[in-house]
Amino acid sequence: MRIEQDLKLDYDDVLIRPKRSTMVSRKDVILERTFTFFHSPKVWTGIPIMTANMATSGTFEMAKVISKYKMITTFHKYYSVKDYTKFFKTFDNPDYIVYTLGIRDEDIEKLKLMIENKLINKFSFICIDVPNGYLQRFIETIKFVRSLCPDHIIIAGNVVANEISEEIILSGADIVKVGVGSGSVCLTRRMTGVGYPQVSAVIECADAAHGMSNPDGKCGLVIADGGQRNPSCVVKAFCAGADFNLCGSMFSGFEESGGKTIMKNGKKFKEYFGSSSNKALSEFYGKKDAHRASEGRYVIMPHKGSIHTFIQDLFGGIRSAGTYIGARKLKEFSKRATFVRVNRQLTTYLEQYDQEK
Ligand code: 5GP
Repeated sequence: MRIEQDLKLDYDDVLIRPKRSTMVSRKDVILERTFTFFHSPKVWTGIPIMTANMATSGTFEMAKVISKYKMITTFHKYYSVKDYTKFFKTFDNPDYIVYTLGIRDEDIEKLKLMIENKLINKFSFICIDVPNGYLQRFIETIKFVRSLCPDHIIIAGNVVANEISEEIILSGADIVKVGVGSGSVCLTRRMTGVGYPQVSAVIECADAAHGMSNPDGKCGLVIADGGQRNPSCVVKAFCAGADFNLCGSMFSGFEESGGKTIMKNGKKFKEYFGSSSNKALSEFYGKKDAHRASEGRYVIMPHKGSIHTFIQDLFGGIRSAGTYIGARKLKEFSKRATFVRVNRQLTTYLEQYDQEK
């Protein structure tokens, strides 16, 4: 047994120090970025924020709305080949959608069917998603998917440390998905004790991925996945070095999100649940295996109305942060940012006060 004594930090443990800035307006902050990739020859331009591949946020309806803002929808794994065939009759915007698969035999079979039916070329991105990215089978799956899809931008995760991020990139992924136990409906920390504070996980994985270089000078990239409760967390993730932010709860609860609408005491709520909650396992797989404990929560959240207002707030918050730290481009956030450690109790106390109001 060994104890790592270095302090590791979460979103609530830090704030961002304001810096001298020459900007006159929030409009001066450009949120669009253009990326090239370690393996894929594609060039991508957009606002690097994506929905989680969860039943309530990774939906066709969401893609139709947020692709117009040049943001990405990572589809959940439960759509069938038939569902995709129908969807692509009315949608053609590959840069803003991600096909997700796991590492089971059925996942690979479905991917092969997607390729045979020429559906996979309707996506620029493929995401190989497992809760535990430290499995050898996961690394082998990345290599195999890269051999089948040499040109796609491949995302793979989840992990939280530097050496495994390097291995993931060297195995064929372009982007490492970072976060273990960080999600709002995740019970992994409670059920297993496993996890890593998210700001430190992003800093360490970004350091590893950005430090790599292919013969053309292209580096690996990272996605901060989970734990962002509001725009400030998205800003902190960009400052920590995340190239993309991927969020579940922030994109749930809206008219356009998946999940049932529920009326309770005259108020409207919407479902949000973890991908390994009892609800997801029974609804999408028919049953939960006896050896498996549920590691996801089921919650109902107050209905948040239409997503358009939220998107304006999200972009406004990020732009405002840029003016505070003197960053004209999203790319500059991590260069300009200095984090200050704060008393976590104080932040929590103030948030409680805000809710009571
Ligand atoms: P949020 O944005 O809601 O804080 O977190 C979303 C992320 O939580 C997802 O992208 C995924 O990484 C993680 N997640 C989703 N469902 C589950 C689950 O059932 N269990 C665990 N451990 N993590 C989950």
